[in-house]
Amino acid sequence: MVPDYHIHTVFCKHADGHAAEYRETARGLGMPQMCFTDHAPAPDGYDPSVRMQLAEFPAYRDLIAPLQATAGPPEVLFGIEADYYAGARAFLGDWLPRQAFDLVLGSIHYIGDWCFDHPGYAARWKTVDVAGAWREYFALMAELARSRLYDAVGHLDLPKKFGFRPTDQALREMAQPALDVIAAEGMAVEINTSGLRKPVREIYPSPLLLGLAREREIPICFGSDSHSPQEVGADFDKAVQLALDAGYTQCVRFRKREKQLVPLAD
Ligand code: ZN
Ligand code: FE
Ligand code: FE
Ligand code: ZN
Repeated sequence: MVPDYHIHTVFCKHADGHAAEYRETARGLGMPQMCFTDHAPAPDGYDPSVRMQLAEFPAYRDLIAPLQATAGPPEVLFGIEADYYAGARAFLGDWLPRQAFDLVLGSIHYIGDWCFDHPGYAARWKTVDVAGAWREYFALMAELARSRLYDAVGHLDLPKKFGFRPTDQALREMAQPALDVIAAEGMAVEINTSGLRKPVREIYPSPLLLGLAREREIPICFGSDSHSPQEVGADFDKAVQLALDAGYTQCVRFRKREKQLVPLAD
């Protein structure tokens, strides 16, 4: 069983269950490691409804610390899912390096002022230039990678969530420059199974994008994006198969923001 590196807590205001219950699922699955990566605070007022306040961060740390002190497996890691957006660097550049994180996931949930993956704003996909929106997204993704704030990309092709996609040819053309930067900066890409629970019914990233990542030898890790205890490790058999099909033989383990490659299957 590969580690689950994308797990939320009640601090994000849209997850349920106690962190100990998430750990219990991971333990039952025989996971060697798990990492909590709740949505990072953004004291500049960015999207406050789905994240902890900065003042709540010590409580998040104190929620996870006792689980880290509990004998494993799983070894419990402490992480964060931090958004990239215009202006993110002002806070994150100073704050992230001062925390004892094992892993920082970098995610994009906004194109301009549009929270494109929010079900409440999904109708806008019917009114926009779909390929143009994806192009903007991947331009942001290249900036995210260039910022050097993050260790791994979360849900690389999140814009597909509601099924609106560019052609394969357009996708390849717009994603490659971002993947080149991800590779050059030594970042990993997360294989995120939550897409299977969304209208698109597909893991993030698609086989096409994972193949492009593989060509660049971009390391991979795995995440369920759990917002509920029973989602930990969900569909990881499919995620590992996807990685094997793309030609991967190794995945990456994190600790204190350092990467270590280990065999994917034993
Ligand atoms: Zn969330
Ligand atoms: Fe996310
Ligand atoms: Fe998440
Ligand atoms: Zn996420």
